[in-house]
Amino acid sequence: MSGQGTTRSGGCLCGAVRFDARNVPATFSICHCEPCRRWTGSALLEVSIKTEDLTWHGADRIATRASSDWAERAWCRDCGTNVYFRHTREDKWFGTTDLPLGIFDDASGFELTHEIYVDHKPDSFAYESKGHKHLTRAEVLALQGYMGEDE
Ligand SMILES: [Zn+2]
Ligand SMILES: [Zn+2]
Repeated sequence: MSGQGTTRSGGCLCGAVRFDARNVPATFSICHCEPCRRWTGSALLEVSIKTEDLTWHGADRIATRASSDWAERAWCRDCGTNVYFRHTREDKWFGTTDLPLGIFDDASGFELTHEIYVDHKPDSFAYESKGHKHLTRAEVLALQGYMGEDE
């Protein structure tokens, strides 16, 4: 399963929250910002999907929390699995939802294209480089226009 326009499904550990996603890209990014590190316990491996291309099942089991003035994070109320991150302000990423790579039923076939907040990555591990882009926190914040505030 790979290629543009792929349909994929996935869900949380207990199965109370499930999703079907259309037009799933064959790429993902890794974020090492402090909120993502604490939220995941490591780093967020994220697949960005248009929010309108996502259908949730068990949405009443999803809890959300604003992790900054411009983003929210969601998890399953029953099992605690993190299910999405999204921007809530109408910025250049508004309208997309980032799903953790690990909650897809089939997590294979995705290519790593960007690793961000690389200057905040713990020094104890590294992801294999196949030529993907590395961006520091300053480079990311300059792109987003939110100087000094993490997601
Ligand atoms: Zn669950
Ligand atoms: Zn992050």
